[in-house]
Amino acid sequence: MIPLDEAQAHVRDRCPAPVATTVALSEALGLVLAEPVVATEAVPPFANTAMDGFAVRAADTVGAPVRLTVVGTLAAGAAPDRPVGPGEAIRIMTGAPVPSGADAVVMVERTSVSGQFDGELVDVEVEVPVGNHIRDAGEDLEPGQVVFAPGTAIGPGHVGVLASINLHEVPVFRRPRVGVISTGDELVADGSALALGQIRDSNRPGLLALVGGSGFDAVDLGLVRDDEADIEAALLAGVESCDALLTTGGVSMGDFDYVKVVLDRIGVMRWMQVAIRPAKPLAFGTVAGVPVFGLPGNPVSSMVSFELFARPALRAMAGHTVTGRPLVSAVADGGLPRRPDGKVHFARVLVDYRDGAYRVASAGGQGSHQLTAMAGADGLAVLPDGDGVADGDVVEVLLLH
Ligand code: AMP
Ligand code: MG
Repeated sequence: MIPLDEAQAHVRDRCPAPVATTVALSEALGLVLAEPVVATEAVPPFANTAMDGFAVRAADTVGAPVRLTVVGTLAAGAAPDRPVGPGEAIRIMTGAPVPSGADAVVMVERTSVSGQFDGELVDVEVEVPVGNHIRDAGEDLEPGQVVFAPGTAIGPGHVGVLASINLHEVPVFRRPRVGVISTGDELVADGSALALGQIRDSNRPGLLALVGGSGFDAVDLGLVRDDEADIEAALLAGVESCDALLTTGGVSMGDFDYVKVVLDRIGVMRWMQVAIRPAKPLAFGTVAGVPVFGLPGNPVSSMVSFELFARPALRAMAGHTVTGRPLVSAVADGGLPRRPDGKVHFARVLVDYRDGAYRVASAGGQGSHQLTAMAGADGLAVLPDGDGVADGDVVEVLLLH
């Protein structure tokens, strides 16, 4: 058996570097910037009001209450067609440009209006300073300013900022296309009744969901029988259309575990026994330069293996600098017992944040075939070799979301 970090490093070192491209802004969420983004426009583009109210000369409000003459109205989107003179005010709506002459805005709540439209008067209750409720041009971004550095992961806020500076073609690293293949003669995926010995193919839908949920393009490459020629054909077709492949099953010690046999023949492959539980066996190789992750068949193992090996490597291929899940310390409620076996165990746990501390408790049956605990889990508690963690002891946890 080899330690987890050695296996992770082996995988990471053999995955290709991120590939730069450009995408439409609408496609950029979750991707990583490949180049710095520089603002070409000021944000806001002009001085405007942060409040509905009246644009005034601050000096006119000294000694308030004061009465001013209303000489116009400015809606958002309207350009001022006259200045504000001494003793005057222009009614103004949030976002409208501040007219020349005015240097402050009084919010509408601090005013009252009398008179008709012609010769309307406004009583201003408060004295306001110069700049009151005015958002200056460039207060968020100045032209020429570096807005985001390369390596920035694009979230919803970034999408908004990029739109605010009119950047609609975004320089990013390509979103990896990840193909998923399940293997096994026992698997049924067409909804038909199960004969004795058969089970449903749960790994492929689960892994496709993990791939998509992790921000990669998930490509369903189907279910393949335990047959060397079929597995070879599926892998060769997969590496033509994808940036990485995931297979499940066929990498253990069984007589019909052909995935590792085929990978050995057509790729540069290493078969690893990693000192972890679940997910001990891992076949990893490259076929025509495309990384292929031979994940174990047990459902929980396939998902934990994805978390520990595939997801970090795929995130690196997507240009992310942070590739792992957050690791936090938590108090174990009820304890997480285990037996010494030379492996690090990853227990599926519920995670709660209470009274200033993370707390974890078992999410249910910890067998590698018991997928319901994986489904419910918020985290993987890292149990070093030994007898596990007693009630109230502190344990490290990988947060899954
Ligand atoms: P293997 O790694 O092929 O020896 O499979 C290990 C265990 O995982 C066996 O019990 C398989 O039936 C089960 N298994 C393999 N592939 C899948 C799958 N796609 N969905 C659900 N269970 C699977
Ligand atoms: Mg199998």
